[in-house]
Amino acid sequence: MSYRVVSPYNGKILKEFSVATDEEVEQTLTNANNFYQQAKEQSIEQRAEQLSALADEFTKRTDYYANFLTTNMGKLISEARGEVKKTVAFARYYVDKGAAALEDQDYTAMAGGRKAHLEFSSIGAVVAVEPWNFPYTQVMRVFAPNFILGNPVILKHASIVPECAQAFDEACQAAGLPTGAFKNLFVTYDQVNQMISDPRVQGVALTGSEKAGELIAAEAGHNLKKSTMELGGTDVCIVLNDADLKKAVAGAVSGRLRNAGQACTSSKRYLVQSGIYDEFLAAIKKEFAKYQQGDPLDEKTTLAPLSSKNAQQQLQKQIKAVLDGGAKVLWGDPTPVEGPGAFFNPLIISGMTYDNPMYDHELFGPVAQLYRVDDEKQIVELANHSNYGLGGAIYSEDLNKARKLASKIETGQIAVNQPLSSLPELPFGGIKKSGYGRELSDLGIREFANIKTVLG
Ligand code: NDP
Repeated sequence: MSYRVVSPYNGKILKEFSVATDEEVEQTLTNANNFYQQAKEQSIEQRAEQLSALADEFTKRTDYYANFLTTNMGKLISEARGEVKKTVAFARYYVDKGAAALEDQDYTAMAGGRKAHLEFSSIGAVVAVEPWNFPYTQVMRVFAPNFILGNPVILKHASIVPECAQAFDEACQAAGLPTGAFKNLFVTYDQVNQMISDPRVQGVALTGSEKAGELIAAEAGHNLKKSTMELGGTDVCIVLNDADLKKAVAGAVSGRLRNAGQACTSSKRYLVQSGIYDEFLAAIKKEFAKYQQGDPLDEKTTLAPLSSKNAQQQLQKQIKAVLDGGAKVLWGDPTPVEGPGAFFNPLIISGMTYDNPMYDHELFGPVAQLYRVDDEKQIVELANHSNYGLGGAIYSEDLNKARKLASKIETGQIAVNQPLSSLPELPFGGIKKSGYGRELSDLGIREFANIKTVLG
């Protein structure tokens, strides 16, 4: 097991880190538990001030923090700055709204007139296992609500973004957060399991692949610990005949190519109605052609490399299987890109059938699947023919029709006339193999809360 930074742009090994000792893990659990106990005596307002200082730290040194995203996992530098800003927005939301989401809730009416209320309190440490695609926002989504609640967070980050993990820790220290509130550890899978089984840990939050979800959820279940799973997706982008073409094309293309296509809620499947199909295809080909691959630190680059050589090789294998399974390339060059960088040529493919071995697999890169569809029945059937159920988008100028259709799509969230993105105020999460639980919003802060009923 190694934690190291390998440049996705040129393959150079930039930095290596050693794995935490069992003593460090034990010390972290002790510190976390001390914070948990002390936080019970503190006010939420005090922690809100500390979280605000963390947001200020990220704001003051945006470029410093953004740079690690680009060098570690290859994100375009402009997108990296955007991610730091979003990380700040997630923190600020809980600074402003966290306390209100944890106020006692009167249940007297529900209890048939007997006085009753719910109170929301901390439960103990939460282990956050996080992915490389959004190395700061994913961590803040778990940390900010839990910190306000009084739960310490121990981070096991993806092994390819260790400097991002360390930078988050550094930001917490620079902001003066109390010892034990947050700690990054470069741990092995076994050490993660040990932590999950420790009584001082009461929750596990994972964002990652279905496979990691199965293993970590099983470990949490075995130890009867609460877990949230934010896993993959094969989101649809539905374009109806009456869509505003410009809006639909802009949303579909940015929805697929931002972060080099490596987002759980990327628009992976375009479902386009026959009446607008030809125009839509011509327009997206034109837009895809504008993307320029290159050094992600160069402001002129518009398509970043994938996060690692492993990611590149995995996607190459998947595309080979897609094409061997009968699908066709409508636009783009599927030849693997040679060289030390983890580049991947953007592709538009069609002819994916239910029996294609890759049909229900998450293609994590700049690859759009296009489907020509006729009526609503066919759209709903195709959209829901997936083991995943994360998000999606619908484009139509008839809002009523779009919203009715949205209700029929089996996902945890869906956007109309815009690409789906995570907003701090709105619950984020999926159903089916996309996982369970919600992050962000007032629901996110209650995931690892003791929701205590007080009668009388
Ligand atoms: P993983 O799911 O393996 O990694 C996500 C996180 O889980 C990492 O921190 C990883 O650590 C950790 N992890 C994985 N298995 C275990 C385990 N058994 N015990 C403890 N921690 C574990 O994703 P990959 O990076 O391997 O990417 C593979 C594919 O997963 C992608 O191509 C994509 O399809 C999907 N994915 C989806 C994401 C999403 O947002 N939906 C995010 C990331 C990946 P480590 O890095 O050390 O292995």
